[in-house]
Amino acid sequence: MTVLGPDDLDRPIRIAMPDLTRGAAALARLRITTAREALWYLPFRYDDFSDLRPLGELLPDEKQSARARVEAVRVEPGFGRRPQRVIVQLSDDTGSAEAIWFGRQFVERRLKAGDELIVSGKVTQRGWRSQFTSPEFSPVGRESVHTARVVPVYHLAAGVTQKRLRELLARILDAALPAVEDPLDENERGELPVLSEAMRTAHFPEDAGDVTGALDRLAFDELLALQITFAQARQARELLTAPRISVTDAQRNEIVDALPFTLTDDQASAVAAIGADLALERPMRRLLQGDVGSGKTAVAAVALASAVRAGWQGVLMAPTEILARQHHIGLSPLLDGLGVRAEFLSGSLSMTSKKQIHDAIAEGGAEVVIGTHAVISEAVEFPRLGLVIVDEQHRFGVGQRAALQAKGTGGEPHVLALTATPIPRTLALTVYGDLSISTIRELPPGRQPIRTEIRDRRALPKIEAFLTSEAAEGRQSFVVVPLVTESEALQVASVEAEAERLAAALPQLRIGVVHGQQKANARDETMSAFAAGEKDVLVATTVIEVGIDVPNASVILIEDAERFGLAQLHQLRGRVGRGAHRSFCILLSDSTDEVAQRRLEILRGSNDGFAIAEADLELRGAGNVLGTRQSGLPPLRVASLFEPRHLRLAERARTLADAVVADDPTMAQRPGLARLQADFALSEADGDAA
Ligand code: ADP
Ligand code: MG
Repeated sequence: MTVLGPDDLDRPIRIAMPDLTRGAAALARLRITTAREALWYLPFRYDDFSDLRPLGELLPDEKQSARARVEAVRVEPGFGRRPQRVIVQLSDDTGSAEAIWFGRQFVERRLKAGDELIVSGKVTQRGWRSQFTSPEFSPVGRESVHTARVVPVYHLAAGVTQKRLRELLARILDAALPAVEDPLDENERGELPVLSEAMRTAHFPEDAGDVTGALDRLAFDELLALQITFAQARQARELLTAPRISVTDAQRNEIVDALPFTLTDDQASAVAAIGADLALERPMRRLLQGDVGSGKTAVAAVALASAVRAGWQGVLMAPTEILARQHHIGLSPLLDGLGVRAEFLSGSLSMTSKKQIHDAIAEGGAEVVIGTHAVISEAVEFPRLGLVIVDEQHRFGVGQRAALQAKGTGGEPHVLALTATPIPRTLALTVYGDLSISTIRELPPGRQPIRTEIRDRRALPKIEAFLTSEAAEGRQSFVVVPLVTESEALQVASVEAEAERLAAALPQLRIGVVHGQQKANARDETMSAFAAGEKDVLVATTVIEVGIDVPNASVILIEDAERFGLAQLHQLRGRVGRGAHRSFCILLSDSTDEVAQRRLEILRGSNDGFAIAEADLELRGAGNVLGTRQSGLPPLRVASLFEPRHLRLAERARTLADAVVADDPTMAQRPGLARLQADFALSEADGDAA
């Protein structure tokens, strides 16, 4: 048997383990080229076949194993569409059973009457007979990784079978595990198992009960790699220079006093934290999280005005043109009042207007630029870019950062990201581990709470009557159609069908339709008409999720609400209750699923985005705290952000990572930990985002 040394773990398998040449080719199809990659290729689930039973005591519909004698092997040839079947009669002292395989698996060649076998699989009761369907089997006395134990199940690729992969991984584990050194010392490890032990258990657990502990250990290593990456990114930032944007207290007060309202305490502390960051020579990377309508834009306005007062330019970028326009409309009066010139820039402007704005930016006349993310991709240079505010984009990509760096000439700009999807602290640690966070929890005074109700389709006529009576009062409604994830075209079809249905049912109402496939100006036109009160009902996809501000809208009806993430539902609900009118959110759902019902109940019971996120997190696996915005998350392979145990491990990983990186930024003394970053394909660049 091959035994590998530590250096062999990262050599190609075909070289380190020459007896596995053909196996190495199979593994390559799964992108496994080294033993270390093989060790980290973890099963996605397990089949527990450890329950070894006499044939007379087999349980129907359960996974289990039996030790039995082959009495007879019969092959029924296939014809037409019916596959060949191999049927094997089994017996032991307590009874008999049969095993059946379909298709040409050549099982018959490996079995003959008189063989003693262990079979493992799911048992079905067929009349009086117990039947194993396509079970795994192995001869008695020859230990097998496929039978009579907890058996790992891996993702496969063409040409590699589950059996083959299991056997290869078992051989590699035997050869490689003795060479695996634990990057953690005993103290750091605490109650978690030693790495090599955790790896063995994660692949081939002796007992199903050991799996959790083993996966926790591997998850910890992954979270640690991530936190080290974050810690290094934070440290690297210390070395970058950003413009020192400092305003006097008098200047800050003048700006704040120009707002048409008094800042809430949470807003005031966010303003103070941002002010302190901007005054440093190191680039700010701060996230401002707060519910829809909590007043983030007001905070952003203060930051932008401060940057301009100090002689710098600011940019505010929104994910859509509508949102960007709305920011421009909302911010302009405030900025105008302060003598700050804000320009709107978007890809859809005419060449001439774009050129004018580009010139104004280049000459420094445009002090604040508000637009879509096109702002940084446009061929435009900001002579004094000091602050970039990114609205509703969870992560600020490395590519964008590079683009920004190229825009600015005064060093790295400060970056403030705004998000209305607040997440609990433990989660934020992992998702935004490299950022400072400000949170607005308290809503501005005088808000009407939104009343939320859960209804099924039978209530539709009543709901439609309600939309009509609200319209008669001069109010407006949103109708959000079910989420169709399969295709954008289906989604559009469902929006249009629903709009037609409503138009037929409510001929007296003016109904508009918006969806993501419309031309931007067509969509803008409808949205603007709705905002101007020229439509009573806006039927929409989630394109209305972020942004649009129509204080006169008092009802949002969300169809098939159970299909949406809680955070997303909360966001959608935030489209109403923005004015002085009593507002309603109707969650339409015919789902009888208990978890789905419980999730909707959470929403009905709370208007607090944080409480909702926390409750969703509790319903682990069921909820999706981050809504649809998963794309920018760290690509975790073992750890789960929906597993409270792992979130606790993340905190522990954070503490350890900070300590290690503070002492030894390049991790020269801790090659094992540096190694982990490579194992999880994390690099400093991944962490250095805002
Ligand atoms: P967000 O960006 O978090 O969704 P906004 O900044 O757009 O919230 O604020 C929502 C509404 O509340 C706006 O109409 C804004 O003028 C108003 N607002 C913000 N802060 C306050 C405050 N401290 N007092 C009263 N109204 C406020
Ligand atoms: Mg906003």
